[in-house]
Amino acid sequence: MFDILKSELTRRTLLYKAGFGFMALGVAGAVGTILRPMRTLAQAGPASTKEPPLPPDKKLGWAIVGLGKFATQQIIPSFGECKRSKLVALVSGDRAKAEQYAQQYGVNPKNIYNYQNFDSIRNNPEVDVIYIILPNGLHAEYSIRAAQAGKHIMCEKPMAINVEECQAMINAAKKSDRKLMIAYRAQYEPYNLAAIELAQSGKLGKLKAIVSDHGRNLDPKDPADRWRANKKLAGGGSLYDIGIYALNATRYITGEEPQEISAMMYSTPGDPRFGEVEENVNFMLRFPSGVLANCTSSYGYADTKRIQVFGADATLELDPATDYYQHRLTIKRKDGNEERNIEEKNQFALEIDHLSESIIQNKQPKTPGEEGLQDVRLMQLIYEAARTGKTIKV
Ligand code: NAD
Repeated sequence: MFDILKSELTRRTLLYKAGFGFMALGVAGAVGTILRPMRTLAQAGPASTKEPPLPPDKKLGWAIVGLGKFATQQIIPSFGECKRSKLVALVSGDRAKAEQYAQQYGVNPKNIYNYQNFDSIRNNPEVDVIYIILPNGLHAEYSIRAAQAGKHIMCEKPMAINVEECQAMINAAKKSDRKLMIAYRAQYEPYNLAAIELAQSGKLGKLKAIVSDHGRNLDPKDPADRWRANKKLAGGGSLYDIGIYALNATRYITGEEPQEISAMMYSTPGDPRFGEVEENVNFMLRFPSGVLANCTSSYGYADTKRIQVFGADATLELDPATDYYQHRLTIKRKDGNEERNIEEKNQFALEIDHLSESIIQNKQPKTPGEEGLQDVRLMQLIYEAARTGKTIKV
């Protein structure tokens, strides 16, 4: 943690220094299809500056399941910055697309699988870890099949549709003696780590309240947003997709679990996007230390990803808090505002390497299945609180 603070740069613009820019341009150029502009990649540093990369033959081999927007635009390109992990296999229903990415990222075409022959991945010794980046409703099935194939598992958030599925995933990983990690990237991202340190070390004074708003406008024209409007595939609406960042943040900022929940939910009547899943959920949480959290989650308002932490002595503001790059952290005190400029790092590479490192050292990853299950459990209680209008004791 302190390394992160020590590595703060005095000016954000230092990150644009020439060598860096060229390296990032090289990565972005090779990727081609990345929609996030190169400028954003140019701001991210290597995943870890301290540890030398493992030689390629010692890196763990990763398979990606689902070649959708997030996998192809963020995760696959990030392997170039991993020090413990390499991309070795792809699983997709679209052979031509998989071949294109295989060629682009140097994956052997013999390591391309589809959803039918996926289980035969058990016979591939090059694959150590399987990363599930499918619609939420498929996370449990593919994580369990991955565990049964004897592979370690990384699964995207939200972990699954309900608590029972989450528990079945945990059980399957345990039974196969494999690690299961949920991809809570913010918990590996330097600005969020700095916020945790500031909040938990008392530097803001006694914590009193957290406000977090996470939302975006669901776009029915975007294929990646279509399944998100389908309850069976998405599990829930804005809360499951983006409000989960606010919920998870209240837990990692306080380091506590909420004891009471109240909530209110509203979807614009007649809006076809919200026939099956909710648009807006506002929820309040009370933590054992007395911290109260107020969160909003929306599929109807413009892009917002922010966290505010109110202490007796200072207020911390992360805005954006949980974006892919370009975070901002401000500490507001009576005598003025201080902006912390921290070296941006590729949080995807950091979280991927974290699981590889946990496997190599046989340690529990920081965000195991139990972390994902707790959020799913709490989201279900948030829905219940909204439905019943009652405050729920956890
Ligand atoms: P996407 O629709 O772009 O990708 C999903 C992929 O699954 C597609 O390639 C699709 O073809 C495939 N698929 C397989 N079976 C399918 C089926 N029955 N129905 C629909 N698609 C099917 O979505 P995405 O935005 O890439 O999201 C995928 C997962 O990644 C979700 O769980 C989402 O929550 C997560 N995600 C995480 C982050 C993050 O920052 N951690 C960001 C975006 C998405």
